[in-house]
This record gives sequence, C-alpha cells and structure tokens, in this order.
Amino acid sequence: MQLNHIKDNIYYISAPVNMGIIVNERGEALLVDTGIDDSVSRKVRRMLEEKGFTLKGIIITHAHADHCGGAPYLVKSTGARVYATGIEKTVLEYPVWEPVYLFGGAYPPQPLRNKFFLAPGVVVDQELEPGVHNVAGSEVEIVDLAGHTLGQVGVAAGGVLFCADAIIGQDILSKHGIPLNTNIHRSLETFALLEERRESHFLPAHGALLEDIKMVTAANRRRVEDTIDHLLSLMSIRRTAEEILAAACAKFGVHIGNPGQYYLMHLTVLAYLSFLLDKKLITPTYRDNRQYFSLTSAG
Ligand SMILES: [Zn+2]
Repeated sequence: MQLNHIKDNIYYISAPVNMGIIVNERGEALLVDTGIDDSVSRKVRRMLEEKGFTLKGIIITHAHADHCGGAPYLVKSTGARVYATGIEKTVLEYPVWEPVYLFGGAYPPQPLRNKFFLAPGVVVDQELEPGVHNVAGSEVEIVDLAGHTLGQVGVAAGGVLFCADAIIGQDILSKHGIPLNTNIHRSLETFALLEERRESHFLPAHGALLEDIKMVTAANRRRVEDTIDHLLSLMSIRRTAEEILAAACAKFGVHIGNPGQYYLMHLTVLAYLSFLLDKKLITPTYRDNRQYFSLTSAG
C-alpha cells in the first residue's frame, strides 16, 4: 500500500482495492472506499496522519466487503462520517445481505460468511444522490455508475474520477474472465457514460491509474458483449443455468475452486440471463422440475 499524489488536492492509496483521497483547503480528507478490514484501514489512517490530513468523511462506492470492511475501524478511531447511496446503505448496515443474496436469499453457509463476503456493519450517516454536493467539507460530484451493483457510484473531484468497480484494469480483466456485474443493461449504460467523461485521470478500484479511460472501458464492454454472444450461442439448445455457467467458464478460462468463486459467477450468469429474458431473446421452459433457457426464436 502506498499513498500517491494524482494532482492538486487529489491523492489515492494503491492497494488491492484502491482508495481515493480528496483534501480541502483545511487539510480535511474525504476518503473513497476503505479496503477490506482493520489492518488495511489502520495503514490508511497512518498514511493520512503522516501527510497531516484529518479524515472527515468516507464515501463507500458500493457495499462489497472489500470496499467497506475497513470502515468501522476508521469511524471508531477518527469519528469520520459515512456516505453511500440508499440502496447500498441497506447492505452496509445489514451486511448479511451480501452473502444472503449470493446464496439465493437463504442464510449463507460458513464459507460465505468470511471477511470477503460478510463485512462488519457500518452506519451510513447520510445518503448520497448523484450530482454535485459538499461532502464532509469537499465539493465532489457523485456519479451514478450502477451495473456492478444496483447502487454503485463513482466520485469526481478536481479532474479525477474514482470509478469503483464500474470497469476493471485490463490485466485483471484477463484474469477474471467474466467480471461481476449484477445489472447488464445498467453496466452498458455506465460504459457509455464513462466514455463521455472528460476527467484527466480515472482510478478503477482494481487496476492502475488511467489517463485515458476509453481503451479500458472498450475492453470491459467487449467482454460483456462477448459474454452475451456466447451465452446466446449456448442457448441454441435448451440448457439449465448450471450448464450455461459451466460452458461460459470454459469459454473465458475461469476455474471455480471454492464456494465464493462459484456463487459470484452464479450471480453474474443470472445477471446475463435476466438481461436476455427482459429483451425476450431467451425463454424459460420447465421439464422434470428443471428450468431450461433457450433462444426465443428456437421455440
Ligand atoms: Zn465490487
């Protein structure tokens, strides 16, 4: 982990989950995301103190444990206020929802209750709406970047856009195969929005700082479009969601080895099926108590 200067009063901490820092003229810092746990946020606190910054606010871009698990420690030790969108707040305050939705709404088994899926809860002091706001003493634009989750936002300030998990760096994209998105329609809209942004710097939470977002966004969009095309080709014959998941993993080089990987991929495949169902491109049928999906035109 390292604290890096981007430009003017904007900094970031490079880490497995990159964090943004916006500092106002009084040296008060607004942090974008917190990392996964206390050990990360202890380092964050130390880095801010070494710079002479006072942590005043934390914007949590979305309620995934790797972005918010460090928040309770920072709140307790600095008194910083927490900001998030209304829908993400529901998960931040009742974090069991993350493993519950992964496990189909049922109480999740132990392997889904570790720190990667079940964050400690944190109270959101103020709900965020897209638009320009003064947040904890800094003027920032909250940018709607839904798709990866239903209520994800980015944070823009001083010509830098912290873009959370709306896109991931190209090297990580090739490792991940099919990135996690929960609403494909909104992800495609978010890619279009990102390509129109005029910031000089963009920071995905997973990946390197970018001066040009177009290439990486195009690569992310291509992966979503290739996934749509591949799933449609698979459904020229009727298949269960389980068969579609296995075939899609084979195509994009994904090797599932534990429950966490399985349920994240399962959620992602369901997001694509939901998208294709809404477009009426595929139709479900039920036989022998199994659900199958096939191309609508295939009858
Ligand atoms: Zn995420």
